[in-house]
Amino acid sequence: MADLTSPELTARIHRGAREIGGSCVELRSGDATIILDLGTPLTSRPGQLTPLPQAIGLGAGGTAPLGVFITHGHQDHWGLVPQLPPGIPLFVGQGAANVLRAAQFWGTGVDLGETGHLTHLGPVRLGPFTVTPYLPDHSGYDAYSLLVEAGGRRLFYTGDLRGHGRKAAMFDRLLAGPPAPVHALLMEGTSFRAAQLPGAGPSAQKTPTPVPTEADLENSIAETMRGTDGLVVVLASAQNIDRLVTVYRSALRAERDLVVDLYTADVAAATGRASIPRPGPDWPRVHVHVPLRQRVRVKDSGEFGRVARVREHRLYAEQLRSRRSGLVLFGAYQSEIPRLLREGLLEGGAVVWSMWDGYLHEASGLRLQAALRGADVPLVHHHTSGHASTQDLAQLVAALHPRVVVPIHTDAPDEYAAAIGPLVQARADGVWWPV
Ligand SMILES: [Zn+2]
Repeated sequence: MADLTSPELTARIHRGAREIGGSCVELRSGDATIILDLGTPLTSRPGQLTPLPQAIGLGAGGTAPLGVFITHGHQDHWGLVPQLPPGIPLFVGQGAANVLRAAQFWGTGVDLGETGHLTHLGPVRLGPFTVTPYLPDHSGYDAYSLLVEAGGRRLFYTGDLRGHGRKAAMFDRLLAGPPAPVHALLMEGTSFRAAQLPGAGPSAQKTPTPVPTEADLENSIAETMRGTDGLVVVLASAQNIDRLVTVYRSALRAERDLVVDLYTADVAAATGRASIPRPGPDWPRVHVHVPLRQRVRVKDSGEFGRVARVREHRLYAEQLRSRRSGLVLFGAYQSEIPRLLREGLLEGGAVVWSMWDGYLHEASGLRLQAALRGADVPLVHHHTSGHASTQDLAQLVAALHPRVVVPIHTDAPDEYAAAIGPLVQARADGVWWPV
């Protein structure tokens, strides 16, 4: 610990200094520590166990951290939580935690067993630390940035954020009324692209094309719906609540009703927000069509209440056929596409890809593309990133006015440093530095 030059507040990144995913940061003040995020690396394969980071009281010996703070519900930020020793307090947004609990049945979530909930500007005090959450804008539901203060030093950790989603106003509010002072800004840099990566040449860095906003997507998806005679299927992450709202609004503009799968319906209900579309008496234009894979899962579990709850809102294949020009399916329907094709339900229809393009290069994505090509059904791309554009990140640095900027959640730290400028001080994984 000879490099603990500041006893007031020191930090070390355990993972993320040169990688997107698996984020974990340890903060120390005197003998006390806290952990910000505890994610699984994106490179880890299903079933592969990633050990806990060598943090004090976790992978290494010593006293357990006073608390673990999870910024949002993406697995690259919470994936190692189930390995935590018992008794360590955990904090996360209530909406984020409830969405993950709802997703657990569908194999993509977890019960974090949280101790307390993060709320916008509601400080959490643990020993020498005061942690104040800021609700920014991100594709992950109920995501927070965290301002951590101890011994008179302040670090602002962005978590994952963006400025072009449905809560862009929150990002603007952060720019307009930033916390001050901020000594160190620990800022995500997902959108920086290394020059050698395909599709991201240096010229793309110099003249960046504007990132589409969720509002832009609402227009373009509505246009695709209007230009399609048959059924439209939007393939998207069920946990991308911003996108659910976007597609619902597109559907109304194109005079179509929205049809969601059971997983998406569960997640929408778990947000606890009346403004999120979901099957129920308040949403006459939202229906449920249950994919075969989900029917099997419900049957195997014996939890038949899951389908009974949405009985009045269900649409079956016959109704998809007879009403296909007035419907749009949204959510986890990728496994249903072969059946929809076989039964002719996509004749004159279209499939919208509303996720990261990288998934299309995986085996399932390649199969999907081949099946649609074979049936002459168009695959239309309408997506925007869950992460801030490089311009928005530069704006954030200007607004927060930190003494130093430390990159995290980036696989292009050199491009990050070149774009943000001399404030950037890259810190390697595992090395302590003073805030
Ligand atoms: Zn992330």
